[in-house]
Amino acid sequence: MNCTKCKTKAVISLPRHNAAFCKGCFNGFVHDQVARAIKSEWMFGKEERILVAVSGGKDSLALWDILLKLGYRADALYVNLGIGTYSEQSHAKVTKFAEVVAASHGATLHLHTVEQEAGAGIKELAQLIHRPTCSTCGTIKRYQFNRVAIEQQYDVMATGHNLDDEAARLLGNVLHWQEEYLEKQGPSLPASVEGFAKKVKPLYRLSERELAAYAVLNRIDYIVEECPMAKGSKMLQYKEVLNRLETESPGTKQTFYWGFLEKQSKKQPTATTMTEKDRAVLHPCTSCSQPTTAEVCSYCKMMVRAKTVVPR
Ligand SMILES: [Zn+2]
Ligand SMILES: [Zn+2]
Repeated sequence: MNCTKCKTKAVISLPRHNAAFCKGCFNGFVHDQVARAIKSEWMFGKEERILVAVSGGKDSLALWDILLKLGYRADALYVNLGIGTYSEQSHAKVTKFAEVVAASHGATLHLHTVEQEAGAGIKELAQLIHRPTCSTCGTIKRYQFNRVAIEQQYDVMATGHNLDDEAARLLGNVLHWQEEYLEKQGPSLPASVEGFAKKVKPLYRLSERELAAYAVLNRIDYIVEECPMAKGSKMLQYKEVLNRLETESPGTKQTFYWGFLEKQSKKQPTATTMTEKDRAVLHPCTSCSQPTTAEVCSYCKMMVRAKTVVPR
């Protein structure tokens, strides 16, 4: 198998693109896909400051790596959730990447430790508020990510969601006809109200397999293990189903998600109607002033609960 571009020995084949690449051409392909995503969805420019949410997994570290190599001003935030060895290991991988790779580009890593602020890890917090661990984790990560972005004046927040993530989420939203979520499933969400930063997903054109290959080929040391809390989750089930379809007919995920985006873009002007809707229901939390639909945001409610129950 030879590289489609330069005819030397290929290291990876990409059935959905009918192509195979050597390491150099594959890196070029990955960088090109991200550059196209940034441009076509008006994500950010070279002067803007980007905050990447990193977890220690392949996607978010690859995203940080790619943005820095493409010459963007990208810093990162890591939230330590306190999930035993999983958190210890992912924390170590992120710190190592920040010291070895990101620092040479002048990039900074911000850290937030859940246990330090709440006095308890994610599992105990979830029990306290009677919510599933994954949704509690989502609340905390979203909250901290937005807080750091606003406080440190970043122009945009970027997450490592890839094509597999977005196709699986879309499948879930369609299966349950969650129209409200469908509206917000684009890879670029504007800063709808004061206190909410713009959110983008620059990896939506790349698959999980492609990102794993990118991480391995570029010696990015990442945590391979999935979060132990996510085992058996609906999202993983949807991914499995889509993977089976993809094996039978390469390009299924891409046709599904990109096709959805194309339809969305014709329904203009989504961004403005979405912003108007958000403005109508959101106002500052009376405790922390981050935007919320309630009087006190769910994060502040959780912290109050944690601080009254957990002895410090
Ligand atoms: Zn090549
Ligand atoms: Zn609040």
